[in-house]
Amino acid sequence: MPTLVMKFGGTSVANLDRIARAAKRVSLEVAKGYDVIVIVSAMSGKTNEMVGWVNETSPLYDAREYDAVVSSGENVTAGLMALRLQQMEIPARSWQGWQVPVKTTSAHSNARIEEIPTDNINAKFGEGMRVAVVAGFQGVSAEGRITTLGRGGSDTTAVAFAAAFDAERCDIFTDVDGVYTTDPRIVSKARKLDKISFEEMLELASLGAKVLQTRSVELAMRYKVCLLYTSDAADE
Ligand code: ADP
Ligand code: ASP
Ligand code: MG
Repeated sequence: MPTLVMKFGGTSVANLDRIARAAKRVSLEVAKGYDVIVIVSAMSGKTNEMVGWVNETSPLYDAREYDAVVSSGENVTAGLMALRLQQMEIPARSWQGWQVPVKTTSAHSNARIEEIPTDNINAKFGEGMRVAVVAGFQGVSAEGRITTLGRGGSDTTAVAFAAAFDAERCDIFTDVDGVYTTDPRIVSKARKLDKISFEEMLELASLGAKVLQTRSVELAMRYKVCLLYTSDAADE
C-alpha cells in the first residue's frame, strides 16, 4: 500500500479535541487506502515548560537528562493519538524513538538522525496495522540513551520518515495555512505562497523563521520529499 507521512505540530495536538480532529484527518487518508505514519509534536507549550523545569533544577544541566525530560511530551501525544485512532476502529500503534529505533548521533539536545530501519514498522503494517504514530523530536544514541533533535525537531523526524519509507507525500499540519513570504502572525501583509523551492525554503528557515526546522528542509531537498505545509483547520 502507498505510504503517507502526516505530521501534526504542537497546536494541532494541543488538547484532546485537537487530537480527535487530527485523528479524523488521518482516518480520511486511511480510507483512501494509505498506510499512514503520523508524527506528533508535544502539546503546544509543554516542551517549553519542561525546558524551564530543567533550567530551574540545574542551570548547568547534563544534556542527557535534558533529553530524558524534554522528549517526554511527544510520548504523551503519540499514545493519545494511537488510542483515539483505535477508538475509531483504526488499527494503530504508537512508537517512541527508541522502539523504531530512530538511530541518532550522541549530540544530546541537538542530535542528528543517522538511520531509520523500516523493518519493525513495516512488519506491523504487514500484520494489518494501518497507522504508526511516532513520537517526533526524539531518537536513541548508540549508547542506548534517548536523544532529542533540537527545537522544532519533529519536522525533521517527519521528513526523515518520509524518505526512509519512500512516502508519497509528507504533510505538515500546523497553525498557519501555508508558507508565507514572511511570518503571517507578525506581518499582516504577508502573502501565501502556492509553491516554494527547496532553496527558497532553506533560506526562509535558516533566517530563523520557525516555519520548518532547517534540517528538515535540507533532508527534504536531499531525498526529494514532496512536502505539503498546511493548516489542519480545513475540515472544521
Ligand atoms: P508547529 O508546532 O506546528 O511546528 P511552529 O510554531 O513550530 O508550529 O511553526 C509554525 C509557525 O511558524 C507559525 O505559527 C508562524 O508564526 C511561523 N512562521 C514563521 N515564518 C513563517 C512563514 N514564512 N510562513 C508561515 N509561517 C511562518
Ligand atoms: N516539541 C518539540 C519543540 O517544541 C519538537 C517540535 O515540536 O518540533 O521543540
Ligand atoms: Mg515547529
